[in-house]
Amino acid sequence: MERTLVLIKPDGVRRSITGEIISRIERRGLRIVAMDQRTLDTDTAKTHYEEHRERPFFDSLVEFITGGPLVAMVVEGERAVEAFRALAGATDPVSAGPGTIRGDFALEVQENIVHGSDSSYSAEREIELFFPDLG
Ligand code: ADP
Ligand code: MG
Repeated sequence: MERTLVLIKPDGVRRSITGEIISRIERRGLRIVAMDQRTLDTDTAKTHYEEHRERPFFDSLVEFITGGPLVAMVVEGERAVEAFRALAGATDPVSAGPGTIRGDFALEVQENIVHGSDSSYSAEREIELFFPDLG
């Protein structure tokens, strides 16, 4: 069993598609083991996206991800990291296939509805950041 951190970003919450996304995760057979809605502070957002600190879109990304409530969850299952990223689709929604979350609900690379950890190692770091009590 593997765990991954999933975020329904503020654009997904604003558009009231959290239920749709949760449903897709559950129907796939993945299990939600922790979940809440919260608004990120700037420090947490910068830590979460620290690998992108030098990228030109970093400040804009931090502003976007802190700009309203998001839904954070820990998702568990067989190869959960890869399984959720397949559900999410490509980072750029225009390139994401139909049937994926991004391919069905987004057009812009920044406002692309969901985050999923990119490796088991990143997942453990991100879960510790968002759900420190989970162990
Ligand atoms: P992913 O979320 O698919 O792992 P990255 O880790 O490359 O993608 O990027 C993190 C997030 O930064 C993306 O989900 C998206 O919201 C934003 N982003 C990525 N590339 C760009 C870009 N060129 N311009 C604006 N925002 C971007
Ligand atoms: Mg990433």
